[in-house]
Amino acid sequence: MFRNIKTVPHVLFGRGSFDRLNEILAPKRSESAAFMVFLVDRVFENRPPADRIPVEEDDRLLWIDTTEEPKTGDIDQLVARIRSSADRLPGGIIGIGGGSTLDTAKAVSLLLTNPGPAADYQGWDLIHYQAVYHVGIPTLSGTGTEVSRTAVLTGPDKKLGINSDCTVFDQVVLDPELLQGAPPDQRFYTGMDCYIHCVESLKGTFINAFSRAYAEKALDLCREVFLEDSPDPDDKLMMASYFGGLSIAYSQVGICHALSYGLSFVLGLHHGLANCVAFDCLEEYYPQEVEAFRRMLDKHDIRLPRRLTADLGAEQLTRMTDVALILEPLWENALGKDWKQIMTPEKIRQLYQRM
Ligand code: NAD
Ligand code: ZN
Repeated sequence: MFRNIKTVPHVLFGRGSFDRLNEILAPKRSESAAFMVFLVDRVFENRPPADRIPVEEDDRLLWIDTTEEPKTGDIDQLVARIRSSADRLPGGIIGIGGGSTLDTAKAVSLLLTNPGPAADYQGWDLIHYQAVYHVGIPTLSGTGTEVSRTAVLTGPDKKLGINSDCTVFDQVVLDPELLQGAPPDQRFYTGMDCYIHCVESLKGTFINAFSRAYAEKALDLCREVFLEDSPDPDDKLMMASYFGGLSIAYSQVGICHALSYGLSFVLGLHHGLANCVAFDCLEEYYPQEVEAFRRMLDKHDIRLPRRLTADLGAEQLTRMTDVALILEPLWENALGKDWKQIMTPEKIRQLYQRM
């Protein structure tokens, strides 16, 4: 399997790097007297780094509510709002926040130049035109969205990303200081997203030396952060997330992510938490890794919610199963070409019933 991977062309890393954003944007502003649109998680409305965002007179700063993960309809509304506020396209979209905000920024930058609703582009390589220049600045680490070629959205009938080379950020700013203040449970859930990316990449059938190199390093960093009292955990987690994202760029995630998408779609669970709930039920597939995960849960005093599917009716369970089954490449990576013989709808339902 060959993949001609598009990666982020510009990466600024280090404590305090956020304060260089103005310099990064300056050439884009002068190119065509362009204005910038900052899409920022609403959690920062009255706290740092909001006071240090380099907003200039013509720019727009839009607060993004991430109570729920981004929906295709949210993207359509944001695009309409940006279009109606000016007679030209912005020179840049800058996303500041966790995975939900960064995916919103990616999707908005794509939909400003590609006609029609966001739901039309959920899938693989459906984008026709280059996106508006877009910058990602994570304030949580683990999803790997800062380096991935997808913007995950919940649409009317599926949770699926807009996967394309144009989705990849033009620039990311990785400033570990921005992780300060993240609630410990959320930091854990999002961090585990990275841990699970690496496990599923390493254990999958698509694995190769490229993916292994990044996943092994990222797993080491995750262990240092979540099992040891190692120095500079935020710096390490930020690099683990980035490497985990690079690993799955040349492989794929697996069973946990497929199940997690169904959980999020039907129960509205955020991705990191949904992953943790699913992973905890997968010792049959990832025995040692689930055992280490449980030690991490204990060390960080995290109590996962239980019996989430106990009251679901047959129709909702079927819906969950159908959403999981759409993700064919994930199943194929995890279980091989004959995955349909192993992972039947009934088996998926049984796994969900354990959650
Ligand atoms: P998130 O962006 O959904 O944020 C979770 C919560 O943390 C929100 O309430 C947010 O306000 C808060 N938050 C974020 N940063 C904070 C900070 N520094 N301090 C205090 N609160 C903070 O969380 P996430 O786990 O980073 O992202 C999940 C999303 O990423 C999902 O939508 C998922 O589908 C997507 N995702 C995308 C990819 C990809 O490659 N595109 C990969 C994995 C997940
Ligand atoms: Zn993930």
